[in-house]
Amino acid sequence: MAIRQELLHYDYGIPLSAILEAVMKHETLLLLLRSASHTLCQDVERQARKLCIGNPDIPGSLICRAVAHGIESAETDRQTNVAMRDCAASLATLTSDHAALAKLLKFARDLYFELLDKDAQAAKRTDWGRRILHAFDRLEIAVAKQRDLRDKARTERLHHAEQWTRSLFESVPDPQFLHTLDGYFLDVNSAACERLGYSREQLLNMCVSDIDKPLQAPSLEKTVQTILKNGSCRFRTAHVSSSGEIFPVEIRSCVVDSGDTPLILSSARDMSEMETQRKALQKSEEKFRRIFETMKDAYILTSMEGAVLMANPSALRQIGLAEHEVLGKDVTPLLYANPADRKAMLEKLTEDGALSGYLVDFKDKDGATVKGELNVNLVYNEQNEPVALEGIFRDVTDRIEAEREMREREEQYRGFFMNNHAVMLLHDPNNGNIIDANPAAERFYGHERGTLLSMNINQLQQDSEEDVFREMVRAGQQNRNHFLLRHKTAGGRERDVEVYSGPVMVNGRMLLYSVIHDVTERRRLGKELQRLATEDSLTGVYNRREFLRLCEKEFSRSRRYRTPLSLLMLDLDNFKTINDTHGHKIGDEVLQAVTACCREALRDSDLLGRIGGEEFAVALPQTDSANAAKAAHRLCKSIRELQVQTPQGPQSVTVSIGLAAMTRDDHDAEETMHRADKALYSAKRKGRNRVEKA
Ligand code: GH3
Ligand code: MG
Ligand code: MG
Repeated sequence: MAIRQELLHYDYGIPLSAILEAVMKHETLLLLLRSASHTLCQDVERQARKLCIGNPDIPGSLICRAVAHGIESAETDRQTNVAMRDCAASLATLTSDHAALAKLLKFARDLYFELLDKDAQAAKRTDWGRRILHAFDRLEIAVAKQRDLRDKARTERLHHAEQWTRSLFESVPDPQFLHTLDGYFLDVNSAACERLGYSREQLLNMCVSDIDKPLQAPSLEKTVQTILKNGSCRFRTAHVSSSGEIFPVEIRSCVVDSGDTPLILSSARDMSEMETQRKALQKSEEKFRRIFETMKDAYILTSMEGAVLMANPSALRQIGLAEHEVLGKDVTPLLYANPADRKAMLEKLTEDGALSGYLVDFKDKDGATVKGELNVNLVYNEQNEPVALEGIFRDVTDRIEAEREMREREEQYRGFFMNNHAVMLLHDPNNGNIIDANPAAERFYGHERGTLLSMNINQLQQDSEEDVFREMVRAGQQNRNHFLLRHKTAGGRERDVEVYSGPVMVNGRMLLYSVIHDVTERRRLGKELQRLATEDSLTGVYNRREFLRLCEKEFSRSRRYRTPLSLLMLDLDNFKTINDTHGHKIGDEVLQAVTACCREALRDSDLLGRIGGEEFAVALPQTDSANAAKAAHRLCKSIRELQVQTPQGPQSVTVSIGLAAMTRDDHDAEETMHRADKALYSAKRKGRNRVEKA
């Protein structure tokens, strides 16, 4: 009983002992029962049965027992009183319905007064009546108080419970919907509003079918039936947000007992991300599967002992067997040309943890040895113990062969470079740094290789950078495959060079190689030949051919710029006599002295040529006939005054000069010269040592 009381105390927050105390202390119920007639007891029992909801038999039977005791022990003793009290206490604790108990007591009181009125004497009636009234009043007050307290506690408890449930409902990250069986929303949480893009008010005016994508959602009626039958249900559908976005969701619904009609609480988990992740995972799996299937490299997974667990098509092709023929077989005889190699590989693997680019001889399907490059990883289980070996290998026979060829070729080129007599340099076109130089370059430039490799190509150039650039442009215009430059050596010697350059890739870097020809001597000879071809060897002035060529150029220029041009034809007078008198050598000296005299008398821009034995010609650009005559007279005079020393004494010489100025009718210089020639003959005819105009 004590436990029951405690339970009741815990449940309602108020000890029912107050009621029981009232009952026991004043012995109201005992008095009632003890003094009761048989009819009263029967009525009380009937009433108790009627009022006790749920399980009327228990309180009913208890009352019956209590009443029976009361009747039997009308002459009470202590023991009966204790038994009666227990019965009454049990009755009170079991009757959870306070209202029913109050009613029962009220009924008992009324009934008792009725009997009292009928049977008792007046004095006894008054005393009993007062005591009973007092007891009943206290009992009723206690019951009422208890009921109030209990109601208050329940309201508070319900309020707390509701608040707690509501905040739980609100804080769940997944959208939550509380709806009626026909789908109308009664409550939704913030997550639902946020995900669907509606306000709470909007959603509370909507129903399940408004957010379900019709084609994917199972019928509401069917779902509700399942939920009602099983208490809960789980299914996939799709929701549509206010913006029209359709996303997959997983719904978990359960029944909420709300008293009259059941409601449904549905939680919707957004599966879009999961779906995306699932798809991404699937895709990546497919991708890896594809790579596995199509990769050129062979992939083999073996157990630690070497049994093949997995092999891709490339590996199978390499081995020349079908998958079922290799699975479970020892990899060593299948793959290794040298069975001992696998052991060595494993030792290295244990040492390094993984192998990359490990070279091993493999067998191909025909048993021939191929050079393989192997990458191996250990595969670990969850306990971090190695359980398998993952090997990727490729046939690198061709690559190794190519590398060998390349090395050979490199050596050949190196030999070619180092042993070549031609001067060779390699430089970086970006900054001009010299990267390599051959021994011929060392000899040519007079710098040691180390010095050359620390130099810039510009330090070898005599010409300025602009000049070099101009020469490059010129070479391009002239379609030349070389540049004509001047390089300088360690000793400060300047050398004419022809540079043949071309790009070359070295270790992925674009460099320029240059072959340098020293053409200093050749150019000197060329210049000498040029000089010989254009100069008169005795006097150093232009020879006839060169004079005529330059004279024609001057003629064209004067014609183009409309400037005057005059020509003089000179012939030494009686030169034969000088030769005859003093000999040919003196004659030559006279010719040289006359040349020097002419050079002296003429401007730098005038052209002087020896066009015959003792005949000279002069072209005077930008000089008209009158000024040309002045020059001719000056020339005539200074030659006349010339004296060449001979053993026979000083020898003088005179000259006859014919002058012609370019006219509009002249087609070329030759025509003007022809007229000057005629004037010369006229001067000869008129007695020599004079100037005649055409
Ligand atoms: P004229 O006044 O009519 O011109 O008489 P000339 O003697 O000067 O004329 P001619 O044509 O008869 O003689 C020219 C001479 O010039 C003939 C030749 O021996 C001489 N002569 C030509 N070339 C050279 C040369 O290179 N050296 C020397 N020393 N004499 C030369
Ligand atoms: Mg002559
Ligand atoms: Mg002459």
